[in-house]
Amino acid sequence: MKNTGSDIKFIKGVGKKRAELLNKLGVFSSDDLFYFFPRTYENWSHPLTVAEAPFDMPCCIKAKVITPIKENYIRKNMVIYKFIAEDKDGGTLYVSVFNNRYITKTVQEGKEYLFYGKADGNMLEKSISSPIIKPVGYEKIRPIYPSCEGLTSAAIEKIIGDALKGKDFLDFLPSSIKNEYKLCDLATAINLIHFPRNDKDVQFARRRLAFDELFIMQLGLKYTKERRSQTSGAIIENDTTDEFVSTLPFSLTGAQNRVIKECVKDMASGRQMNRLVQGDVGSGKTAVAASLIYHTVKHCGQAAMLAPTEILAEQHFKTFTSFFNGLNIKVALLTGATTKAEKSKIKEALSKGDIDLVVGTHALIEPDIAFKELELVVTDEQHRFGVEQKTKLSGKGYNPHMLYMSATPIPRSLALILYGDLDLSIIDEMPKGRQKIDTFSVDSSYRSRIYSFIKKNINEGHQAYIVCPMIDENDSNLVAVKEYYNELKNGEFSSYNVGLLHGKMKSKEKDAVMKDFASGKIQLLLSTTVIEVGIDVPNATVMVIENAERFGLSQLHQLRGRIGRGSDKSTCILVSSNKGEIPERLSVLTKTGDGMKIADEDLKLRGPGDFLGKRQHGLPNMKIADISSDIELIKSAGNAASEILKIDGKIEFEEHIGIRKRVAKFLRSVCNYGYN
Ligand code: ADP
Ligand code: MG
Repeated sequence: MKNTGSDIKFIKGVGKKRAELLNKLGVFSSDDLFYFFPRTYENWSHPLTVAEAPFDMPCCIKAKVITPIKENYIRKNMVIYKFIAEDKDGGTLYVSVFNNRYITKTVQEGKEYLFYGKADGNMLEKSISSPIIKPVGYEKIRPIYPSCEGLTSAAIEKIIGDALKGKDFLDFLPSSIKNEYKLCDLATAINLIHFPRNDKDVQFARRRLAFDELFIMQLGLKYTKERRSQTSGAIIENDTTDEFVSTLPFSLTGAQNRVIKECVKDMASGRQMNRLVQGDVGSGKTAVAASLIYHTVKHCGQAAMLAPTEILAEQHFKTFTSFFNGLNIKVALLTGATTKAEKSKIKEALSKGDIDLVVGTHALIEPDIAFKELELVVTDEQHRFGVEQKTKLSGKGYNPHMLYMSATPIPRSLALILYGDLDLSIIDEMPKGRQKIDTFSVDSSYRSRIYSFIKKNINEGHQAYIVCPMIDENDSNLVAVKEYYNELKNGEFSSYNVGLLHGKMKSKEKDAVMKDFASGKIQLLLSTTVIEVGIDVPNATVMVIENAERFGLSQLHQLRGRIGRGSDKSTCILVSSNKGEIPERLSVLTKTGDGMKIADEDLKLRGPGDFLGKRQHGLPNMKIADISSDIELIKSAGNAASEILKIDGKIEFEEHIGIRKRVAKFLRSVCNYGYN
């Protein structure tokens, strides 16, 4: 991405050719260069003795060369140079260097050198292969940069070192914030991140630079949220949700009621609602959405519900049709499977206002779909959609209220970064009478007992899932769903109806299988994780997850949410593939059914990248901050961002110009990702 500051090719020691190489690394301007951080450091600052050198990581050893350098010709184009060095305590270092004839010129017998590399051996004697060798006096911490062919880390180090000489940085952060959060100034941070004297310097610099990143990001999100809250939206007064709720066959939980009221308040405010409802699987988000849809329709508005797959759209369509039965609300379903004739009928009815609620997939977003009075857009499993898609749908009305639903509990720290531009409601209570899903973590030696257990449940009229991580057989030990399906269908479960579902099937095939499972025709379904989202088959009471060790905790919890949806006792069995090796982390799942607790643990164990996995939509690119470990810093930076907005809501004060520029740049960079 292009940055401000002068073009890189005019910087001392760069020139045209190196500029092109730097461009490849994402460096276009002098500012980019200063923010091109080392990926790691080589610590030459405290040379060790042979005895002190660790085995498992590179280090710097100081020793004197005590033999001549011996050349060994192994074969053509392969020469090894060998010599011995000795440290001050008499420890011996055997050094070998491959194919580097300069070594005979640069290294002299009788002289002391620094050797950097991984050493192997024992306390008294170690060997080191192709170390970096420097004369004594080189003791410092060296930055190591991401490099590319034709441009070494050392060359980048030199360029940055030269560019930093005499360079003055205008600090954009007010002193009050620096004082309050104990941050160093920008010039110090940038100088130290490139050329630290010790580990403390690195931490010190990193803290300031990570703060900046988190601060600008959150300021951008809060600013967006603030600005959005100025956007007017349809005023929907006279809360009618109780009317609808009284028709439901169950009474809502306190949490469902609270969330509905939070939304109703938004919708009456005259401002556009932008609210994310988070609730664990089975917490009853659909009933919340239905109440608000009812409320909208009674106000003579139309509502649209966007679902990520055809199966889910159909399921919602059925649910809403039965919820709204007898309430004079017209519901339509629009997906890729809708016939042309049907679609044009729906299109016409929508534009005339004859349909009150349309449930659908991406088909809803197509440009030829128009509404008479779209006032509410509900997006289910919202992380599955890009912003562009959500925006396109909202563009079909005049600032319709936006309700996003997510079944994936996301730890607070991460939510602040991902959804800092939305209001957040959490359904933190499960409907009464829901049975806890018994969860067991076992190894593969339990397999025959598991099969008997599945059969027992099927014989009682229930259904079961077996979830596998892979589709095709490959060279790893992972259980491949196709093979396994054939094996079980023709063996252990030959007298049962077994089905197969995976992501490489056509959507029509998938739908057909899902329908057969929903109707009870398929008794045992072997599947990959495609069943992860929102499927509701209350009669399924057993889930076996193969290679459970390969899944994240949150994902396992999500999968497990497909059972335990009815009134019967449900059981989830996590099978680890290696006999006797059951990962300890899986015990979190056997102990708790609380998705938020599980998510916290998962984030801690795996870090944000893996935690979010494919859901990475919307996670801004961070150079230095780390969402899983910088939780305190996220909070501090968030508070600082709020302080700025409180005194300068438009970020327009003269002294905030540097902040403003950075926020604008951040918002430009993420608009492709998740924010608008
Ligand atoms: P999710 O939040 O995972 O989308 P659903 O909305 O699909 O959950 O609800 C799961 C099931 O619980 C549905 O069958 C729904 O009808 C039922 N349900 C929702 N709210 C309640 C409640 N308050 N009491 C009892 N059952 C409820
Ligand atoms: Mg749902």
